[in-house]
Amino acid sequence: MRRIFRGLIQRPLTEPAPAPDDAALAELAQRVDMAARRTLGRSLSIREVDAGSCNGCELEIHALNNAFYDLERFGLRFVASPRHADVLLVTGPVTRNMRMALERTWRATPDPKWVVAVGECAVDGGLFAGSDAVVGGVSAVVPVDLHIRGCPPTPLAMLQGLLALLSVSASG
Ligand code: SF4
Repeated sequence: MRRIFRGLIQRPLTEPAPAPDDAALAELAQRVDMAARRTLGRSLSIREVDAGSCNGCELEIHALNNAFYDLERFGLRFVASPRHADVLLVTGPVTRNMRMALERTWRATPDPKWVVAVGECAVDGGLFAGSDAVVGGVSAVVPVDLHIRGCPPTPLAMLQGLLALLSVSASG
């Protein structure tokens, strides 16, 4: 009973969240939108594929859509079908059970398309490398255009990666 009471009156032990840099975020997101329109002539459509992650990377990807980041205002859209996507954002080590699904999703995505491997596991299997249940990184199954490292990477790192990808594509 005493512990419950103490829990009610004590302040949380967690550290305060870092102050968000609204201006930098807005500028970065706007640059991604402009690069997408220059490269594709329209906004960027993203299909997320969880190939076997622990869901940590997904939490950060979901954050791109929350009320704070709200990336749809800059023309970045998550779509439900690979047939409507420009970018496949793939997370996790590729598990044996997800290998065929990833291959089929890649084949269903129209050209030109980009594959972005998100997180350390997507690079080379990360924590799960060597497991019998895992094939390896995303590039063991489909061609990868960009790796975004981190465990998990932050939403800002993902935006920076998308911007770099679009800028290189526009200049090439
Ligand atoms: S990179 Fe980290 S957060 Fe992402 S799936 Fe692997 S262990 Fe989870």
